[in-house]
Amino acid sequence: MSLHERTAREQRLANAAAIVERCRRCSIGATRTNSVYGEGNPLAALMVVGEGPGETEDRQGRPFVGRAGELLDRMLGAIGLPREDVFICNTVKCRPTLEDGGRLRNRAPTPFEMTNCRPFLDEQIEIIEPRIILALGAPAAKSFLGDQFSITRQRGQWFEGPRHTPLIATFHPAYILRQTGGELNAVKRLVWDDLKAVRTRLDAIVTVPDPPKVYQAELFSQ
Ligand code: URA
Repeated sequence: MSLHERTAREQRLANAAAIVERCRRCSIGATRTNSVYGEGNPLAALMVVGEGPGETEDRQGRPFVGRAGELLDRMLGAIGLPREDVFICNTVKCRPTLEDGGRLRNRAPTPFEMTNCRPFLDEQIEIIEPRIILALGAPAAKSFLGDQFSITRQRGQWFEGPRHTPLIATFHPAYILRQTGGELNAVKRLVWDDLKAVRTRLDAIVTVPDPPKVYQAELFSQ
């Protein structure tokens, strides 16, 4: 794709991010520190969609930059995709929080918040035209596929997402980080299967360099 196309997309994404920054449709628009629009390659073949910003993301205004983000980077690296090559965003662009003993804690976005924020996500998909969407965790997957979607039964399967884009869901990196022992190994194996499915489908569409084998080892040792 041409430099002109990249620049045009960057401009549209920057304009949309500025609108998100001013948005106060939900109360979390007032409690967040920064909006987290999303970032990455405007020409990305793969779009990764998470649930919503957490504390670190809220502080930095960038998606997946906390512990879950570090694991996501390793997951993508394991299939040969540096973070900069994909586009990473969330179903909601402000950190959903609840007050707990004077402190703000993360919570799942409400259906109201997801619906309010949906036009921004749809616009991102329209601008980037990803060839594949990877939804991380049940809330992100359900936002595309409906409430009946079951992450345990239907992760790793291909669905038709917005704009007829092939869409697959896997476990959220934060969920993987909460597992221990045999559960952890079992979940990692399933996630690895899902990542390989993404890579195989990408290989059929675009040229992606082979991942260094060391990344695969890193994904499974933490
Ligand atoms: N979890 C998410 O779902 N999104 C982020 O950006 C960070 C953590």
